Amino acid sequence: MTSQPSLQEVAPGVHAWIQPDGTWWINNAGAVHSGGEVVLVDTCATARRTRLFLDAVDAATGGAPVRLAVNTHLHGDHVYGNALLPDSTVIVAHEHTRQGVLQDFILAATPPVWSPVPEWGVDAVRAPTLSFRDEVTLYAGTKPVVVRHPGHPAHTVGDAVAWLPEERVLFAGDLVFHRVTPMIAMGSLDGALRSLDWLAAFEPAVVVPGHGPLMAGADFAEVLGEHRRYYEFVRDTAVTGREKGWTPLEAAREADLGEFADLPDTERLVLNLHRAYADADGVEINVAAALGDAIAYNGGPLACSV
Ligand SMILES: [Zn+2]
Repeated sequence: MTSQPSLQEVAPGVHAWIQPDGTWWINNAGAVHSGGEVVLVDTCATARRTRLFLDAVDAATGGAPVRLAVNTHLHGDHVYGNALLPDSTVIVAHEHTRQGVLQDFILAATPPVWSPVPEWGVDAVRAPTLSFRDEVTLYAGTKPVVVRHPGHPAHTVGDAVAWLPEERVLFAGDLVFHRVTPMIAMGSLDGALRSLDWLAAFEPAVVVPGHGPLMAGADFAEVLGEHRRYYEFVRDTAVTGREKGWTPLEAAREADLGEFADLPDTERLVLNLHRAYADADGVEINVAAALGDAIAYNGGPLACSV
């Protein structure tokens, strides 16, 4: 039933690895091929999925060497596959993403949050070895790949997009979830809202979201509008919940998902509310408690087909 991942050439030499259906741990990635070399954008969650991706890139590029790889953020679905890259590949990320990858605890001791528990096929995380704060430009041959941080937390604290100014292709990482429930638990609700205008300003021709299908630039404003409405829904639900003295789980259970009810991974509402509460209280999010509440809301471990 699940359709297969595919490498789609969205502009000459610019490839998007799209993995349906974009739910938990099933991400998109990319490859930019020019001048006989490749710059990758992200890897995948498991060794099996990353091998499929790398084999497809190999076939599309005639085995061109992967000199550089970008990690758009710290989450394992985008970075665990780093371990399969050649030793000579330099992995680049925002400095907070490097820190976050080094502190990853899920690969080594995966909590029973997802069912079935993912088979990573990776022994240890491989962290980026070149970090930046605001922006850095990588080159595949002479083709620039601009890697830019929004300037504040959003999906995570170290998000980056990869922007091809000549082709106007935007690899948005998890700042954009397309037809999948967005998640901001490890970032910032206000920051996620602020990131939407920042993303729109690229005026891309093609957008590769972190999860879900590709979209044309003409559809981007509408998709960003959906993100805005979802984030405002999370914010309003948190305001109501805090006024009533509800926990994030209680607030989620009382909330009407409305237009978002049909998106996969609706239980992320609980995680996002934990973030909204933590930000309002000025405290750190309790990730373990948030995941436990998401399982409770979902009525069991979270569906996963990675
Ligand atoms: Zn992701």
